[in-house]
Amino acid sequence: MNLILLAAPGAGKGTQAELLCEKFGIPTVSTGAMLRKNIADGTQLGKMAEKYINDGKLVPDDVIIGLVQSRIAEGDCKNGFILDGFPRTIAQAEALSASDVKIDKVLNIEVPDEKIIERLAGRLECKSCGTTYHKEHRPPKVDGKCDRCGGDLRVRDDDKPETVKQRLKTYHTQTKPLVDYYKEKGMLRVVSGQEKIEDTHKAVLSALEK
Ligand code: ADP
Ligand code: ZN
Repeated sequence: MNLILLAAPGAGKGTQAELLCEKFGIPTVSTGAMLRKNIADGTQLGKMAEKYINDGKLVPDDVIIGLVQSRIAEGDCKNGFILDGFPRTIAQAEALSASDVKIDKVLNIEVPDEKIIERLAGRLECKSCGTTYHKEHRPPKVDGKCDRCGGDLRVRDDDKPETVKQRLKTYHTQTKPLVDYYKEKGMLRVVSGQEKIEDTHKAVLSALEK
């Protein structure tokens, strides 16, 4: 099963992707996580991408398309994968549809903007493995430490309020059009992302059966 998770920043894409990854045993391909890893490692790609990310803008399409194509060509994606954060522009979707990769379903997790701002304000991320937490909605078992790997948790640079506003703007102008794009192709399934994590997960599973 090859899936795309579509949603505004902070709608819970990453969290739902992780749950699907555990359930189906297929990897999550998260462009945001790959970019942050490149930044942490100080690669050329990371240095280039950092400016865009911290301004709440998108990294150029050609860079992202290359990154995703080489990732999904790896062996562990053979039996399926979950795309989290890609495609994010019509140009990226067109590049994907022109490639050999066949997408089965596109899931849109809907959350209103007000809620997103609140969620991003409490979001924490593990420095080592990238797992996300939320101060209220998904607290770690031990304060400041990752449940999964014990790494330190931090606030992402691009979760600062000014950047969040720009990211939402970027989402509405560049990514939202993908909802109609995939609806027209009959590939879109929609769930509400306002429920508890577990309930949204159940809604996601039943939406995928349709
Ligand atoms: P969120 O979904 O919470 O905004 P991500 O981790 O998916 O966070 O992405 C963080 C940032 O990385 C984005 O704001 C953008 O700058 C960059 N990015 C991630 N995926 C893409 C993509 N497909 N195309 C362009 N830029 C991207
Ligand atoms: Zn961790």
